[in-house]
Amino acid sequence: MTKILWAASDEVWSKFEAPLRREIAAQMPEAELVVGPHDPAEIEYMVYAPNGPVKSFDDYTRLKLVQNIWAGVDLILANPDKPNCPVARMADTGMAEGMSDYVLGHVLRHHLQTDYFASMSPGEWFHDDPPPLARDRKVAILGLGNLGIYCGQRIASQGFEVHGWSRSEKHVEGIKTYAGDQGFLDILGKAEIFVLLLPNTPQTQNIINADTLARMPKGASIINAGRGDAIVDADLISALTSGHISQATLDVFRQEPLPKDDPYWTTPNVLITPHVAAETRASTACIFALQNFVRGEKGEPFLALVDMEKGY
Ligand code: NAP
Repeated sequence: MTKILWAASDEVWSKFEAPLRREIAAQMPEAELVVGPHDPAEIEYMVYAPNGPVKSFDDYTRLKLVQNIWAGVDLILANPDKPNCPVARMADTGMAEGMSDYVLGHVLRHHLQTDYFASMSPGEWFHDDPPPLARDRKVAILGLGNLGIYCGQRIASQGFEVHGWSRSEKHVEGIKTYAGDQGFLDILGKAEIFVLLLPNTPQTQNIINADTLARMPKGASIINAGRGDAIVDADLISALTSGHISQATLDVFRQEPLPKDDPYWTTPNVLITPHVAAETRASTACIFALQNFVRGEKGEPFLALVDMEKGY
C-alpha cells in the first residue's frame, strides 16, 4: 500500500487533517496516511514543511516526491541534508488567489495614494492633480512565475499596463515581458509600481539596491511579497527618506519576525505586513498535493518541481 507521510508542523495539522484525508479518499483511496512514528523506508510521498519533524532524508529510501506545502523553497535548499528525490513547490490555486488579492489591493492603494489621504490632518483639503487612470499607470512584476503571472494578469484585468520580468523569455497574454540582465535594466525604467515576487537565490539577492532604485522613476513605489533578501534595506530606506521612492509595502524581510528596533518600523511611507501575503490554504493545497502524488503513480511528470541547480 502506498504510504503518504504527514511531515509538516503539528501546529497546522488541525487545519490539514480533514482536507488531506478527504483528498486521499477522493484521489488515491488505496493510499495510507501516516502520521507520527513510522518506518522511513516505507514512505513514498511526503507532505512536507521545513519546520516539520523531518530534518534528514537519508533513511527515506523509497521516496518518490517531497511535496512542500510552502511556495518558497529556500529553507529546503539551505538544508545540507536535501531530499535525494524530486521536490515540488506549492502551486495551488488558493496560494495564487491569496497573493493576487494582496498584490492587487496594495497596487490599488499605491495607485490611489490612499496613505497620503489617510495621513491628512483634520480640515486639510488639498490634492494634486487627479491620479492617473489605471490604464495610464504602469506596474512591473519582478518574478513572472506561478504567482507573478497570476497577479500580473489580475492587475492587467483591472486596466493597468503590466510589465513582467523573469529569468527565461516568456510570452504571457496581457503582460509585456522582459528577461535576463538587460531585461531587468529595461523594466526598471518602465513602471511606477514595482511588485517583487522573486524567490531567494544567489542571483536575486540584493537586486534592489542604490543603483537599481536610482533607475526607477522618481516617485516609484515598491511592494515586496517575494523574499526580503532581494532588497538592500539601507538603500531602500535612503531612497524612501529622500523621496525618490514614494512608498513601500513590505511583507517579507531578511529576519522574521522583523525585530522591534528595525529602522523600517520608523521609516515614513512604509507599510509592514507580517508575511501574510499568501498563506497556504489547506483545502486547495491538499488537492494540489494529491494531484501530484497521483501523477507520480501514473508515471506522469510532477507539477511545480524545484530545480535544485537554479535554486527555486
Ligand atoms: P516560481 O513559480 O518559481 O517563480 C519564480 C519567478 O522568479 C520565475 O518567473 C523566475 O523566472 C523568476 N526568477 C528567478 N530567478 C530569477 C532571476 N535570477 N532573474 C529573473 N527572474 C528570476 O515561484 P512562485 O510560486 O511564483 O513564488 C515566488 C516567490 O514568492 C517564492 O519563491 C516565495 O519566496 C514567495 N512567496 C511569498 C509568500 C508570502 O506570503 N509573502 C507566499 C508564497 C510565495 P523563470 O520563470 O524564467 O524561471
